[in-house]
Amino acid sequence: MLSLLLPRRCVLCRSEGTGLCAACITTLIAAPEMAPPPGFDTCSSLLSYTGATKELIAALKFHNHRDAVGVLGFAMSQLVDASETLERPALTVTWAPTSANRKAKRGFDQSELLARAVAASLGLRACKLLRRVAGQAQTGHSRAERLLGPQFLATGRSPERVLLVDDVRTTGATLCAAADTLIESGTGSVHGLTLAVTL
Ligand SMILES: [Zn+2]
Repeated sequence: MLSLLLPRRCVLCRSEGTGLCAACITTLIAAPEMAPPPGFDTCSSLLSYTGATKELIAALKFHNHRDAVGVLGFAMSQLVDASETLERPALTVTWAPTSANRKAKRGFDQSELLARAVAASLGLRACKLLRRVAGQAQTGHSRAERLLGPQFLATGRSPERVLLVDDVRTTGATLCAAADTLIESGTGSVHGLTLAVTL
C-alpha cells in the first residue's frame, strides 16, 4: 500500500508526524466519571463530546483516519488498564455496529476500527458479536427518535465477559440495546468503553 509511505498527519490540524499531535491533544477535554448505563457492569469514556472532540469524531466518522484510530484506541485501552474492576483475562472485545447501509457508504465502521485498535493494544481478540437490525441511522434524526435506539441481534452465543466499544455515548440507547442483546445471548458481564460521552 503506497499510503504506508506517506507521512502520518494529525486528524485535526493535518500537521505531519502523528495521527493526533500533542498540541491538538491538549485541546481535548477528558470525560468525567459517570454511572454506567443500565445493563453495564462498568462504562468508561475517554473524552467529553465538546469542542475539538466533536471535530475529531466527525473526522473519524466521515473520513477514514486510521492513524488517529490507532492513537485513540491505545488511549482508550489505558482506561481498561487503569480499571480495578475490569480484568483482562477472558475479556472479549466487540463493538456496537453501525448500520450495513452506513458501513457500505463509508467503506468502514468507525466503532469496529476503534474496537480492533483497543483489542490490539490490550493483546485481546476483537470479535463481531452483534448485527444491527436494518433500520434508521442515528445521524440526522430527532432526539426522540434516537432515544428509541437501534436493534441488535447476536451472531451466536455470546462470551461470558464482553468489552463493548462504541464511538460516542449519547442517550445510552445504543449501548443499552447492544448490552441487552449480549446478555440475552449468554453474556454475564458487559463493560462499556467509548471514545466520547455527551454531557
Ligand atoms: Zn494537530
